[in-house]
Amino acid sequence: MSIWIKHELCSGCGACVKVCPYAAVEIIDTKACINERCTECGVCLTSCKEKAILTDVTEKTVPDFSDRKGVWVFAEQRDGILNRVTFELLGIGQLLAKELNQELSAIVLGSKIDKLIDPLAEFGAENIYIAIHPSLNDYRTIAYTSVISKLVREYKPNILLIGATHTGRDLAPRLSRRLGVGLTADCTELSIDPEHGDLLQTRPAFGGNLMATIINRYSRPQMATVRPGVMQQIKGKSPNGPRKIIKSVSLSEKEIMTRILEVVKEERQKVNLNEAKVIITGGRGVGSLEGMKKLEALADLLGGEVGGTRVAVEEGWVTVERQIGQTGQTVRPDLYFACGISGAIQHRAGILGSKYIIAINKDPMAPIFQVADWGIVGDIHEVVPLLTEKLQQR
Ligand SMILES: Cc1cc2nc3c(=O)[nH]c(=O)nc-3n(C[C@H](O)[C@H](O)[C@H](O)COP(=O)(O)OP(=O)(O)OC[C@H]3O[C@@H](n4cnc5c(N)ncnc54)[C@H](O)[C@@H]3O)c2cc1C
Repeated sequence: MSIWIKHELCSGCGACVKVCPYAAVEIIDTKACINERCTECGVCLTSCKEKAILTDVTEKTVPDFSDRKGVWVFAEQRDGILNRVTFELLGIGQLLAKELNQELSAIVLGSKIDKLIDPLAEFGAENIYIAIHPSLNDYRTIAYTSVISKLVREYKPNILLIGATHTGRDLAPRLSRRLGVGLTADCTELSIDPEHGDLLQTRPAFGGNLMATIINRYSRPQMATVRPGVMQQIKGKSPNGPRKIIKSVSLSEKEIMTRILEVVKEERQKVNLNEAKVIITGGRGVGSLEGMKKLEALADLLGGEVGGTRVAVEEGWVTVERQIGQTGQTVRPDLYFACGISGAIQHRAGILGSKYIIAINKDPMAPIFQVADWGIVGDIHEVVPLLTEKLQQR
């Protein structure tokens, strides 16, 4: 235990009991005692007028990170095509790099990556770190972790951003462990602390009931993942063109330990929610598959896509690829219809980038109306067909 009580000094006043958020201090025989619930948070230390609470925990000093420079974006490619999250990360990366007065770089691994250079530069990458090796063509955890961690150790970036894709969710924690640094997953906002220059990493916490901002003060690079569709793409070519840093890597199949025997592409219904200009989403209020058909008719008419809340997915009214929200997709259409949706924070997290939100709900107090640009209080089974009919007549 690194926090203890000197009983000779303790008056048993109970001030420490009151301030402890973990109920880890109790009065036993008129003296304060620390129990096993103590997390060593140190809140009790300042509460004690008698200075009876002691600790050997010294305040951690922030290391000198003046040699850590630059914002890096992991450019995720598959079959020579960059994942769109790469451009979104470059978008936020440009803002962070500008704020820090540092350079923005992309890091790309593979074997046929020449044609990726121009698009990366077009979306703001000033430097492009390129690791070419046939073994890097397809993503494999150990190979990518090994190459990227070596590059990070050599070039010492300040920030490393990775897309929260299937690949990124596998790669980022492995890298953070290998580098011995923290990682904040699924950030919805990234900015720079004006006082210390640290990366402020904001993400939903406690089931989405509050937004937590996490700061990594003691290690570098500051690592964060961001889901596709959260950040904006920003074009911004560096006037000097991209500086290419080509790294030769040596990798043996033996050290990679895994082999790709076959790539089996899952037959999925094509869903383009990320790029849809109009999305009509149904929630519990839709009531049935039949109800969902009414939304599909409106979507067809407007050239849009249909989405669902988690409830609609669980009920089997829409497929899981169409779920919108914290654990589904993040969308940013021009027009978003929320039909029979209460507007839980987990759902709102995925729609706030929409240009206009129209909510239809029979409950005038539904929270969705707080984020809607237009609200229609009514039964969707009446409003949606009426809307479709009126639009057809135009
Ligand atoms: C960790 C976590 C992650 C989650 N991730 C997601 C996520 O990604 N996406 C998501 O959507 N949810 C997610 N959820 C669930 C979320 O908390 C809500 O439970 C869910 O969004 C509610 O869906 P809903 O609005 O369809 O249903 P409800 O909250 O039940 O709302 C139904 C609404 O329909 C209205 N209504 C009913 N009948 C009609 C009618 N005939 N006409 C008009 N209005 C009507 C009601 O007034 C009500 O407002 C998550 C939850 C957790 C804890």
